[in-house]
Amino acid sequence: MRLCMFDDHRVGVLTEGDMIADITSLLPAQTAPSDRMTSLIASWDQLRADAAQASDQAALTLSEVTLMAPQPRPGKIVAAPVNYRRHQSEMGGSDGVYRDADIKSIETYAGFIKANSSIIGPSEVIELPWEDRRVDHEAEVGVVIGRRAKAVSQSDALDYVFGYVPLLDVTVRGEEDRSYRKSLDTFTPIGPAIVTADEVTDPENLDFQLTVDGEVRQRSNTKHMIYGIRRLVELYSQAMTLEPGDLIATGTPEGVAPIQDGEEVVLTVSHVGELTMPVRRRAAFSG
Ligand code: MN
Repeated sequence: MRLCMFDDHRVGVLTEGDMIADITSLLPAQTAPSDRMTSLIASWDQLRADAAQASDQAALTLSEVTLMAPQPRPGKIVAAPVNYRRHQSEMGGSDGVYRDADIKSIETYAGFIKANSSIIGPSEVIELPWEDRRVDHEAEVGVVIGRRAKAVSQSDALDYVFGYVPLLDVTVRGEEDRSYRKSLDTFTPIGPAIVTADEVTDPENLDFQLTVDGEVRQRSNTKHMIYGIRRLVELYSQAMTLEPGDLIATGTPEGVAPIQDGEEVVLTVSHVGELTMPVRRRAAFSG
């Protein structure tokens, strides 16, 4: 099933024919709007049959709603730094993004946290905050946690995954800490929908690509991750409890490059979906 959020925090099932079934009424009425997807995920075992049944009566067309991020407020976003070898190579060395820097990999860096306030959905825009700073696209596959995970082994890891979502880890290059450079407003676009794990046969073998104005910039497969999805769930759940609705940004392959005002970024993940995001300069601060 493909789950989305639309208009003012309505929860929907997105069907094959791009129709939407509003399933907001399946959730307890007192659920805070921004917590609705987390609530749906946490109660999925009880609600999935009703959600599937509702999708047969989808009454809204995609064009008559405004899609939001499908998970607007995860408890946390844990992200994998330098999780593809060829991306490691392009970041350091004599012509690297960080020239002559000694770039290590996830085996050293392990992880970082992105602020959940950086999440936006498909109807919004990526904002470039500062004119003189390089901002890059990073194409990633997002993992959505389905069950509380504490010290989970690799062999059990996928039992704790609810689904997958196209995710952009937008990044300002520079000397600030990763968590700061990657947590600016609008820097975590996700969507258009979360695809439940049962529809993804092998998450560690997914093709994905990113284009800017139609030009292919990044093209890879999740099989090239240094730490695969199972290993990431194991690693992070040993360090911190992963809760239903939390996101893991699994890292980006080679091809990261700057984005500019007026461009359009399209991230396509096979079996998961296609996310289109315009890029605009942020309005000047006028305080
Ligand atoms: Mn990244």
